[in-house]
Amino acid sequence: MITRLSSYFVRTLREDPADAELPSHKLLVRAGYIRRVAPGIYSWLPLGLRVLAKVEQIVREEMDAIGAQEVRFPALLPREPYEATGRWTEYGPNLFRLHDRKSGDYLLGPTHEEMFTLMVKDLYSSYKDLPLALYQIQIKYRDEARPRAGLLRGREFIMKDSYSFDIDDAGLAASYQRHRDAYVRIFDRLGLEYVIVQATSGAMGGSASEEFLAVSPNGEDTFVRSPGGYAANVEAVSIAPPQPTDAEGIPAPRAILTPGAATIDTLVDAANQVAPRADRPWRGSDTLKNVAFRLVWPDGRSELLVVGLPGDRDIDLKRLDAAIAPAEATPLTEEDFTANPGLVKGYIGPVALDGDAVLAHLGSEAATGIRYLVDPRVVPGTAWLTGANVADTHLIDVVAGRDFTADGVLDVAEIRDGDPAPDGSGPLSLARGIEMGHIFQLGRKYADALGLKVLDSNGKLVTVTMGSYGVGVSRAVAAVAEATCDDKGLSWPRALAPFDLQIVATGKDEAVFAAAEQLAAELDAAGVAVLLDDRKASPGVKFADAELLGIPTTVIVGRGLTDGLLELRDRATGERSDLPVEGAAARLREIVAG
Ligand code: ATP
Ligand code: MG
Repeated sequence: MITRLSSYFVRTLREDPADAELPSHKLLVRAGYIRRVAPGIYSWLPLGLRVLAKVEQIVREEMDAIGAQEVRFPALLPREPYEATGRWTEYGPNLFRLHDRKSGDYLLGPTHEEMFTLMVKDLYSSYKDLPLALYQIQIKYRDEARPRAGLLRGREFIMKDSYSFDIDDAGLAASYQRHRDAYVRIFDRLGLEYVIVQATSGAMGGSASEEFLAVSPNGEDTFVRSPGGYAANVEAVSIAPPQPTDAEGIPAPRAILTPGAATIDTLVDAANQVAPRADRPWRGSDTLKNVAFRLVWPDGRSELLVVGLPGDRDIDLKRLDAAIAPAEATPLTEEDFTANPGLVKGYIGPVALDGDAVLAHLGSEAATGIRYLVDPRVVPGTAWLTGANVADTHLIDVVAGRDFTADGVLDVAEIRDGDPAPDGSGPLSLARGIEMGHIFQLGRKYADALGLKVLDSNGKLVTVTMGSYGVGVSRAVAAVAEATCDDKGLSWPRALAPFDLQIVATGKDEAVFAAAEQLAAELDAAGVAVLLDDRKASPGVKFADAELLGIPTTVIVGRGLTDGLLELRDRATGERSDLPVEGAAARLREIVAG
């Protein structure tokens, strides 16, 4: 069937939507692919739906090819299974919760581990039934704090999620590898430039996990790479700690007066004035900065936490969030400081957190009992310039392991370009990406919580081990748009284009329109998906719209027709060339076949 623009349900817009920042978001709306309904919630128009269907098809084919079987669960789910795994609470405000008329609790599924686990438990009971892989392509709901960038971060979005079920660890490793290979094929076919990086598993639980990130300066994820092949989401980087050193010969801590030096720069200046070092000037990296937070868990529990790290580095809030999930960190309030006189704003130091001996020596109060975690660089034997928990005062020569002992390590300092890769594979470089897919070895977390066991070959009941694997299907539409668009509009790769070919008839000549119709009919009969611009609009409007819509090849039927010529335009390269009418359909079939 030929699709004619004169009657197609699309209106292109000149103006960018007011809420859009990213090019893909602006263009998908302006070109008539999607319409916003509410923040993070979109309707799909015919053009958008065709692209979405192509992404779905690629994903479906590759899932089927590894023997995964398609099912579909409801989006509206009962509370109980999510209560059993703790996620009803742990998901926090990201979960859409609702009641039915009998006051029963329901949720809109953010991801479906629980439901798949229960389905397999319902129907399977023997090791002979495994391995098994199931998937669905379905709508998910997450009440994201910052829905932005259109389809890239929706509150309603489409995900392919699959789950593997195995009897043992080796089986899980094999299932994981099959999915990983399938993902490589999916993202190759989508035409994205992507990297596979080590990841954290977040609210999902489980161990081994990797993300597929589309490389994009507008991505929300930051990842690092080394020349030697290390690649990780910054959230997942564990830095290689230095060796502990010998503190012998380092004198006992002593206080220096540093009025007004509540920042690292002013502190370094003050120390260089009042207590210059013999060997070299003080640096930011000599200082131990202590940052206090309140951790709040989804169930309302909360606790103070102080994080100590070298003063020349900031805390990376995404690394912090990932490390403390499902708890969230909030800044301390004035009341918190009042209630904890041991925490002196701007002068917090480790000896008040754990250092009764030193405190006694200084004639100060006993330790606060607040949990104190330090950066891995703060190894035993290292000496620091740090807060004294007394206004306008810092301490010199506070030695880790001698003058204080932290309650543990928290690796949440920013990672910088040039930092060494943890595996020794060279300096790290940072770049940004869009998370397109995420694969996890879940292990037995969900099977344990929900009692998914089968009989093994010895007739013994064993807990099944699982993997979970997601692709952002609606996000992929936007990510590909983002990667391929230019200032004139969208520019789809052939694999995803809503139509193979756009034919634009220009002018008022009936013969031109008739020739365009005939060419369209011939190609349509040959199975080419044709969009025919048969509108009574000016050539300028039609050409601009063709560029905005982003179909890879456009054929212009116009004035050249009397000389037996059409014009061919390639959207991606901008190339223009003449195409003889004679044999045009055959040539165009070759072009769209790629
Ligand atoms: P993000 O870190 O971007 O919030 P996530 O790690 O929470 O994503 P997963 O739970 O791993 O996401 O979900 C699997 C896939 O679903 C992601 O890799 C991503 O492609 C997609 N996805 C997740 N959240 C959204 C969203 N709000 N809008 C669109 N796609 C999403
Ligand atoms: Mg993820």
